[in-house]
Amino acid sequence: MTEAGFVFNEKPIRIDSGAGPYLYDTEGTEYLDFGASYAVTPTGHCHPEVVAAVQQQVEQLMYVQASYPVDIRDDLSTTLAASAPGDIGNVWLCNSGTEANEAAIKFARSATGRSKIVATKNGFHGRTLGALAATWKKKYKKPFEPLAGDFEFVPYGDHEALEAAVDEETAAVLLEPIQGEGGINPTTHEYLQAVREQTAAHDAAMVLDEIQTGLGRTGTMWATEEFGIVPDILTTAKGLASGLPIGATLCRDWIADGAGDHGSTFSGGPVVCAAAQATLDVLANEDLPAHAAEIGAYLTDALQTAIGDDVRDIRGRGLMIGIEVKRGANRLLPTLALEHNILALPAGRTVLRLLPPLIIDRDHADHVVNALSEVIG
Ligand SMILES: *Cc1c(COP(=O)(O)O)cnc(C)c1O
Repeated sequence: MTEAGFVFNEKPIRIDSGAGPYLYDTEGTEYLDFGASYAVTPTGHCHPEVVAAVQQQVEQLMYVQASYPVDIRDDLSTTLAASAPGDIGNVWLCNSGTEANEAAIKFARSATGRSKIVATKNGFHGRTLGALAATWKKKYKKPFEPLAGDFEFVPYGDHEALEAAVDEETAAVLLEPIQGEGGINPTTHEYLQAVREQTAAHDAAMVLDEIQTGLGRTGTMWATEEFGIVPDILTTAKGLASGLPIGATLCRDWIADGAGDHGSTFSGGPVVCAAAQATLDVLANEDLPAHAAEIGAYLTDALQTAIGDDVRDIRGRGLMIGIEVKRGANRLLPTLALEHNILALPAGRTVLRLLPPLIIDRDHADHVVNALSEVIG
């Protein structure tokens, strides 16, 4: 017997439990979780309604293969389809964000009979070999090459480069409505509109990766709602089941009709479906997208007043906020965690990222603003 080893680094805080916006370590120290472990807990940690739904489902049926219809999976698909903009009502369920994008890439290639995928510089779409090929950062890709082929990158927001890249060989344009890992870089209505028009003009698919932006975080259920643009495929994951592993690929009929053959053993398992259905119910019943818009605007204004002059930029939407600092963002995080008991995230080298649970109130926001003005100001 050897001792367990770990492949990647761990943080110096051993987490024991969570409730609402808080995590607790084994010593009982309380941390305000303003990263929501990468946007995975929109409803907060261990929301009682999500916990109850999971407990009930675990006892009733833990697993059955996806070719057997079950009510909870149908309920979730119906709710997801109803929440989606326009007519992207066909739902494929999987187990993570990268798988949701992997399916999007496969479906787009199969439905168009083409292979070229246009993605954006600084974009992030996951770490399996297909989604990784659509991801920009060299560090994530280099050791694993060759990745899936025929991916082309254009600068995010550059209309001319987009127009030059999309042609008769393009299966899809894949992008985030706000780049998350890339540094909280918002797009504009005009650019999304151009992606919509270019893809439509060349019979290619527009794929929006809403894995980080979706589920109310930016102030609407899906970030694209703000622009009124309906993609052909929309992917979601992260917070969809409040912490259980799930991903979903929503698509229009022409994509679903030509989707080819795809599958996954755990696709649409009843327990994760129950967790996701409860999560969507909580988002709706507690009006969390509107709350995210309101509290996000409050937090952004307060940050602007407190530290606006000390940082390069504060940007984002709703509760997806990036603070671009003058020196390394990474060095601020341990101070925030260990001296102020606030957990936040980096996004690249210079951006400090806030993705709190959508249930936070003004006191939580004030607490974080005060801590950041001490750490940054
Ligand atoms: C996190 C993320 C992914 C990958 O999701 P995983 O569940 O980690 O595979 C893909 N796209 C975006 C925009 C993300 O933020």
